[in-house]
Amino acid sequence: MPGLLGVDAAIARLVGIARQQLPDSERVALNAATGRVLAADVQSAMDVPPQANSAMDGIAFCHADLPASGELRISQRIAAGHVPAPLQKNTAARIFTGAILPAGADTVAMQENCEFFADSVRLKDIPAVAANVRPAGQDVQKGTTIVQAGARIDAAAAGLLASTGLADVPVYKRLRVAVLATGDELLEPGEAWRSGCIYNSNRPLLAALLSGWGCEVVDLGRVADSLAATEAALQKAVAEKVDVIISSGGVSVGEEDHVKAALQRLGRLDFWKIAIKPGKPVAMGDIGGIPFMGLPGNPQSVFITALLLARPFLLARQGQQNIRPHAFALPAGFSREKAADRREYVRVQIRSSASGPVLQLHPQQSSGALMSSVWADGLALLEAGASFEAGQAIPFLPFSTLYQP
Ligand code: AMP
Ligand code: MG
Repeated sequence: MPGLLGVDAAIARLVGIARQQLPDSERVALNAATGRVLAADVQSAMDVPPQANSAMDGIAFCHADLPASGELRISQRIAAGHVPAPLQKNTAARIFTGAILPAGADTVAMQENCEFFADSVRLKDIPAVAANVRPAGQDVQKGTTIVQAGARIDAAAAGLLASTGLADVPVYKRLRVAVLATGDELLEPGEAWRSGCIYNSNRPLLAALLSGWGCEVVDLGRVADSLAATEAALQKAVAEKVDVIISSGGVSVGEEDHVKAALQRLGRLDFWKIAIKPGKPVAMGDIGGIPFMGLPGNPQSVFITALLLARPFLLARQGQQNIRPHAFALPAGFSREKAADRREYVRVQIRSSASGPVLQLHPQQSSGALMSSVWADGLALLEAGASFEAGQAIPFLPFSTLYQP
């Protein structure tokens, strides 16, 4: 659609704005660093493993010294955690997984291939030279960059960092995000329902997404539909020294929509017309240098714009480098005859069929409806201008990846 910003271009612009400033960093204990973003490259101060060791329970020996009989006297026993003596010439060492290979030995035979006698062993099967030995530095060599700045520390990275002996790591400070929900009609769950009102579902929805993305939520609650209340809420967010402000509702051009006017008085606001469905224009601005993102009011539009637009912005603002969610191509269980003019994200479930997994479309795709999102496994991306037949592969974004940083 002419005049509209494509979703990918909008994301690139958001990421560009987000990257203009990085959070401060701090050192935290590795045990508490999982889920945080590394603030500097980490080099290993040592080889991992630090010494050559056995990958098997068995015997260690020098391959070149093995006699034709395959029989060797056992001269020592080496368990993990103990320092071995150098291997006596023409002997073998009984060895266990993780135990250090003695100097003079170069090969390990697994115990299943050994016949043990009182003080000797015979190899029933001769392994290749260096078999079953994990050399020093097999995983990591000293000085190698093991995890890069901007990486989110996941379980594997935490294990790798620990393997080099690091007790604490430099990470970016957690992003504090103020969330406010505008609307005179909003009640909080637990309040008695009264006519004219609906319950505030955007607040827990956004809070859940934000904490899943590693942000600290500063809940500013409900904001009444008046200019004064909206300004007061924004000023509170500024006083709280939050890193980002996100609001829901009140950004249309109706008389009851005061976010735009409040932002223009206190800071700066842009409306972005993005070629995305659902999701009305998203407002981007700032107050005193704090980025502001105004999402629509309808819960499903909030959900989609948060997943597709707020997520990359917030991850980039946290210093995270790789923020693309992984889309998988799966066959559509539905067709699309008439090409739409905006890119559409539809709620789908993965169903198994005789020919493999198929994406099933939920019949209710209204921007007010959340039931279909609870039912769905994720979103299928229907490109603007494209039509397709059932069975054709289309991109699928699982909620499991969108809910994660
Ligand atoms: P608005 O953009 O403020 O006009 O809101 C659009 C629609 O979303 C209206 O039907 C609102 O009642 C609804 N809405 C706005 N905020 C929320 C909220 N926090 N929870 C549930 N529905 C909302
Ligand atoms: Mg409203």
